Amino acid sequence: MRHPRKGKAVLGALRVRPAFLYAGIGTGLLGIAYLLRRPLAQGASFVTDIAQGEVVVAYDGGVPIGTIKLKDVGNGVQLEESVADKYLAMAAAAAKDGITLTPVSGFRSMTKQTALWTAAVAKGTARKAAGLAVAYSRHMPGIPHWPPTAPPGFSNHQRGHAIDIAVGITSSQLDAWKRGLEGKGPKVTTKIYEWLEANAGRFGFKRLASEPWHFSTDGR
Ligand SMILES: [Zn+2]
Repeated sequence: MRHPRKGKAVLGALRVRPAFLYAGIGTGLLGIAYLLRRPLAQGASFVTDIAQGEVVVAYDGGVPIGTIKLKDVGNGVQLEESVADKYLAMAAAAAKDGITLTPVSGFRSMTKQTALWTAAVAKGTARKAAGLAVAYSRHMPGIPHWPPTAPPGFSNHQRGHAIDIAVGITSSQLDAWKRGLEGKGPKVTTKIYEWLEANAGRFGFKRLASEPWHFSTDGR
């Protein structure tokens, strides 16, 4: 015997709150994607074809500001030469304390930043529709994006002055952070994060307040 009402009842139950269902599935998938992102990034997407010592065009405030010379800091990541030296000194000090710093993203070309921004806007639009936290840039107001990303030309990464370091943050910690719960909600408590909080300043690095992994010479 067929049970037509059974299927209908299940659909009916789903129909009551599809937004919550999809948000739940979305949160799970985004969480997994976020956790996977760093190891994947270390192997592939952030590794550039920029050669050691290459001179590239730097951007700030949305416009080109001249050229800089790049230097490798490991893991396929480069920084402007003087900032690279500061980072390498910091990484060496961390290693002495038993902490391995893994750079995830340093200098980004305009092509790279544009690709990151485009992907972040797509993800942010989907997250906003699902009722999840998103970020906004003061340089391009009203455009939801995720993860927090500067529009092309506005990232300190395009000056070679900023570096993202894998601090082991989870997606729920990031969500709490972005909702302004820092100090109240879940905290980042990894050894790497705590070491950087205690020591980055000694090497001329300041953390961007809104991003636990992003360090630069001027805090941007
Ligand atoms: Zn960054």
